[in-house]
Amino acid sequence: MITSDAIKRKATELGFDLCGIAPAENFPELSFLRSWLDRGYAGDMSWMPRSASLRADARAVVPGARSVIVTGTLYNTVGSDPTERGEGGQTPFAPLRRGQTPFAEISRYAWGDDYHDVLKTRLEALLAWMRRESPEPFAGCAYVDTGPVQERVYAQYAGLGWIGKNTCLINPEVGSWLFLSEIICTLALEPDTQGLEQCGACTRCLDACPTDALVEPGVLDATRCLSYLTIELRTGIPDEHRAALGTHVYGCDICQAVCPYNQAPLQSDDAAWQPRAGLRAPRLADLWRTPDAGLRSLIKGGPMTRAKLSGLRRNLAVAIGNSGDADARAALDEPDVDRPSASDPMVQEHVEWSRRRG
Ligand code: SF4
Ligand code: SF4
Repeated sequence: MITSDAIKRKATELGFDLCGIAPAENFPELSFLRSWLDRGYAGDMSWMPRSASLRADARAVVPGARSVIVTGTLYNTVGSDPTERGEGGQTPFAPLRRGQTPFAEISRYAWGDDYHDVLKTRLEALLAWMRRESPEPFAGCAYVDTGPVQERVYAQYAGLGWIGKNTCLINPEVGSWLFLSEIICTLALEPDTQGLEQCGACTRCLDACPTDALVEPGVLDATRCLSYLTIELRTGIPDEHRAALGTHVYGCDICQAVCPYNQAPLQSDDAAWQPRAGLRAPRLADLWRTPDAGLRSLIKGGPMTRAKLSGLRRNLAVAIGNSGDADARAALDEPDVDRPSASDPMVQEHVEWSRRRG
């Protein structure tokens, strides 16, 4: 029989930083999804209600499942001070320091390669190794983020940490800059002990959220969250949230950056997550002026392709309006000949909003 320890050793060898095993059981937290959906907090993410019954229990995804192997991969590549970003000559644009021209905020997880692709390859390798090593045949499926699995719940029960008030999985030693991925399988593996809640009386993430998207500890109204508004939303950003968007162009790290467990963050040296030149702290004006072809090649093979060029331009227009950056404002008025995505009517409506900001 293949052991949990052997699987964890192999996971480490394949580049995963954390690995734990949860029993595939009907944990009470799995049932919260239904009421969360009923409150409308998923917004336009229609795949969530569509897959709700699968998400309610891993055994609906893999019939007869007995274990969920959960892995965590550290993606953080910088220290706790965001003004460090842009140093080290890793961007073609001028490094930015406190008090200088505002830069385009891009979530740390999106600076490198697409984690879906990178981790799927590693997870499939782990599953293939398990099939070779296991004397008994078994059914198993590997998922990286996009599967119908409430991975944070299983991660907690696999002992990787706890689900914080900011809804992220927090490991007490590593923090929350983690990609999660999992293998659901029919093998009966020795489970780990559940991670214990360690937020205590802290409310830093709730206090820091610019849109009050954390409506209760551990409850996110995605329709207010900048990550949803800048990535998942395909239509215009609601007026009431545009100012709060600040200079966020893709995602938001605020509720993680303020977390005490991320104040001395470990840094990954994995080549896959190292910031691509141009994504670490780009100037808003430079990003807007980048032709569509250049933007496309900048984000190719990375997570930011999800927002599409028109979505990125929409977000950039709002960020420029919020920035007070005269050069970036001027860039909005320049001819868009090599930037056809800027002519998208939705983008233009946001450009107009930005101009009205004065
Ligand atoms: S990601 Fe940003 S907007 Fe979303 S809950 Fe966290 S702080 Fe709020
Ligand atoms: S900021 Fe505080 S309350 Fe929020 S997740 Fe971190 S420890 Fe928990």
